[in-house]
Amino acid sequence: MTIKFPAFFIFCILVMTSSSGLTQDLVLPLYPEGIPCASQLKEEIFEVRNTGRRVQKVQHPELAVYRAPANLATGASVVICPGGGYTVLAWDWEGTWMAEWFNSFGVDAFVLKYRLPRWESEDCRSNVALMDAQRAVRLVRSKAQEWQIDPNRVGVMGFSAGGHLASTLSTHFDAGKPNDPNEMARYSCRPDFSILMYPVISMDTTFGHTGSRRNLIGENPDPELEIFFSNEKQVTQETPPTILIHASDDGGVLPENSIVYYQALLRNEVPAALHIYESGGHGFSFAEGKGSVEQWAETVKIWMENQGLLNTKIKVLIVEGQNNHKNWMETTQIMQEQLLSSGLFAVDVIRTPTKEENKIGKFSPDFSRYDVVVSNYNGELWSEQTRKNFEDFVRAGGGFVSVHAANNAFAQWPAYNEMIGLGGWEGRTEKDGPYVYYNKEGELIRDESPGPGGHHGRQHAFTIELRDTSHPITAGLPKKWLHAKDELYDQLRGPALNMNVLATAYSDPETGGTDRHEPMLMTLHYGLGRIFHTTLGHLNESQEHIGFKTTFLRGVEWAATGKVTQEAGEW
Ligand code: ZN
Repeated sequence: MTIKFPAFFIFCILVMTSSSGLTQDLVLPLYPEGIPCASQLKEEIFEVRNTGRRVQKVQHPELAVYRAPANLATGASVVICPGGGYTVLAWDWEGTWMAEWFNSFGVDAFVLKYRLPRWESEDCRSNVALMDAQRAVRLVRSKAQEWQIDPNRVGVMGFSAGGHLASTLSTHFDAGKPNDPNEMARYSCRPDFSILMYPVISMDTTFGHTGSRRNLIGENPDPELEIFFSNEKQVTQETPPTILIHASDDGGVLPENSIVYYQALLRNEVPAALHIYESGGHGFSFAEGKGSVEQWAETVKIWMENQGLLNTKIKVLIVEGQNNHKNWMETTQIMQEQLLSSGLFAVDVIRTPTKEENKIGKFSPDFSRYDVVVSNYNGELWSEQTRKNFEDFVRAGGGFVSVHAANNAFAQWPAYNEMIGLGGWEGRTEKDGPYVYYNKEGELIRDESPGPGGHHGRQHAFTIELRDTSHPITAGLPKKWLHAKDELYDQLRGPALNMNVLATAYSDPETGGTDRHEPMLMTLHYGLGRIFHTTLGHLNESQEHIGFKTTFLRGVEWAATGKVTQEAGEW
């Protein structure tokens, strides 16, 4: 007996097996809460020889997620809008195959299945595609932390009519409404960069694309709608940096579309690049074997590099697991969120065994995989091998950041005390090094007199005063600021070699202090390694303060790279 498959089933198999072995991690619906302007369309997928799958009559708009391999990830991401005249989507040809290419150089890609005006009701047809593209960018930003992508490097790429959609998004966006009850609406939908491939730009009847125009705004459109969707008329200084790719012999969408958009970008002083190749026609995708136009992909990649879009993230390891501060899990989380929200860092957290487990000897992280280690640890001494690994890591140029009680740890470990410069408690005395502070005359004092190391008065809000305003970590910051409630460490002792005091705070006898200006923020060197030491951060609210956050984020970047690219921000 033979089993005959129904014809439609065979068709489905064809579709399923035609995806060139692409692995799609995930598909996200754009509107889990319910689709605005929902239709009763029944989606169709069909295969076109050599160019892959096409999709039409989209009913459920979604994002197909293509993550870059972790070892290549740059933090940049792009929403891809395939073309097809607002009638169909060239799903593979101008979608998933592009996504795979972006992944190959560390860019996360999201192929947008947007609704197609051609099939929509007259009430909805002009709105749905833009609505979907805006939502797509918000959705990607909402995942920034979970996926470790940079919310400030989310771009858009569009082909042909998808290029119209991408340029419409680039000229019609909002910054998000912070208090909107719908969480998604709180995120900005402005793309940070645009890649426009043989795009339809204008609704102008002399050089615009007739089919896209008809599908989007109808045969006899309202003139206002015509201007609204003529994106060369909508460019402002807020329009993102853009690269346009076109071919001179494009008979489908005339190169004038790219040219007028490019001119509008120039008028508005938006960084812009325009490459028009001598031939290539329309809808060339990668343009393999089509002559010089085949270079476009490399050109776009180099453009992205030059825009700083492909800078890789700084790899941070936060060490935690033992601490006399009961809120250590919370402070780790606060620091982790601050690092991730800046978009500059990829963060791992490693937890040591607890004291009760009595297995600290087994703690052996591979520090060498990171650019910088942040310690939120104050506990048992690590094994000799782990200590040596850490010393080797910093000596060879690895960064280290010591936060608050991390400078209480390891009184018995000389190299560690050299790294942090000054420490407290755990039996520290004059044998460990001098007290270091500023006196009222503004002189830096190294005081060798005997006595215990490490003390603090009552918790209170206090003023931080910069002593070095030219260091990359402190440049551009207020000379003084009122810090949140915190513990003001005083009488720290240590070798204090190669140490630069960036900021101090006056330790007032009124609150149980020393009447000295105590070091709060320090930088040090150990071998080739850079160390940032912040004594701040006892309470959650201490760490959430702008002064802690800014100096911490800048300190981590500086310890990792020797530079600070972060702005001083709003204080
Ligand atoms: Zn404390």
